[in-house]
Amino acid sequence: MIYKPYGTTNKSISAIGMGGMRFKKEDYADGELGKCSEIVLKAFESGINYFDTAPGYCNDKSEFIYGKAFEQMKTDGKFYVSTKCSLRNAKDADGARRMIEQSLKRLKVDKIDFYNMWCILRREQYDEFIKRGGVYEGACKARDEGLIDHICFSTHMGGPDIAAIADDGLYEGVTLGYNAVNFAYRQKGVDACHAANMGVITMNPLGGGMIPSNPDYFSFMRRKGESLVTSALRFIITQPQITCALVGFSSVDEIEEVVKAADETNGIEPFDHRAMANFLKEELDALCTTCTYCDSCPAGLPIPQLMESYNYFILSCGDEKSVKDRLAYHWNVDGSVAAQCMECGKCELLCTQKLPIIDRLIEIKKMFTSAT
Ligand code: SF4
Ligand code: SF4
Repeated sequence: MIYKPYGTTNKSISAIGMGGMRFKKEDYADGELGKCSEIVLKAFESGINYFDTAPGYCNDKSEFIYGKAFEQMKTDGKFYVSTKCSLRNAKDADGARRMIEQSLKRLKVDKIDFYNMWCILRREQYDEFIKRGGVYEGACKARDEGLIDHICFSTHMGGPDIAAIADDGLYEGVTLGYNAVNFAYRQKGVDACHAANMGVITMNPLGGGMIPSNPDYFSFMRRKGESLVTSALRFIITQPQITCALVGFSSVDEIEEVVKAADETNGIEPFDHRAMANFLKEELDALCTTCTYCDSCPAGLPIPQLMESYNYFILSCGDEKSVKDRLAYHWNVDGSVAAQCMECGKCELLCTQKLPIIDRLIEIKKMFTSAT
């Protein structure tokens, strides 16, 4: 495993971190968390020492799963835990304190290493976090008392907004969505956070599985004999600006492949981003990463499922059947619901990829109208 310094914190963390939102429902639904905590233990044994979670992940079970594993890991060596607090969890400093105490209890640790102001989507939310008496202030107090070590933020904003937050100098690290599909949207932020001596943790390195499952489209990334999982991880972890790529493991078997892929990147030159941008010029901002941040449609449309299916229209160069099959067999969604869009624009405002969702829904609507 490759280890990198997390900003100027004196902590050295694994280039692959474990994300805690991909545990399978059937493995924790009965309240027995052992199968999931085994995945955490296996990741730790494999050299992963950075574990990221949040209240609410996996029907609010993720922190408990980690806690069960951490109890055993405490005697076996050093690891680092990252968890989060959103404005939905807490409105003010007292609320933040309650969330921190809750996370400490669930995670069964004495201190949270990295505590994130979670899910900053807009500048106004950021201002709400740092207002007098707000969540950030509560986190600072907890840090002074030794309950947390470092205050960070997680975001889906674009590069310039992230850079502006980095400039404020209030944070020691950032967690952001970043992969070979969406990197250009956040590269300025990555560079600015690195320049500000912050740790940079990336989420969604495989584009929600899209990269390895479209080998033709992404073949330009691949070195001879390399798997696309390795290519996608190489794209991220060979960059000096990036500290760690989070991977959400659902089973013990997935860990070995990812750790091997990460080890294979050791000593390899970083990607040339300009060349990469040229390859992806057209498609760069065109694909849905299924981040689900748009998923609050007043008309009840399942937008992430519809937009993820539309990716197949792009990747197949216009094959309507690929969209219909994806909707029907993967998502079990009736594509004709696209006609119910009221064009209010809310989803486009929230979309982390800035996709033209309304136009795409009109195209999907046409696909289903022409079929009848
Ligand atoms: S524009 Fe259409 S899909 Fe988007 S939130 Fe409004 S009604 Fe829903
Ligand atoms: S449409 Fe945009 S916000 Fe919605 S899931 Fe896709 S990338 Fe995320």
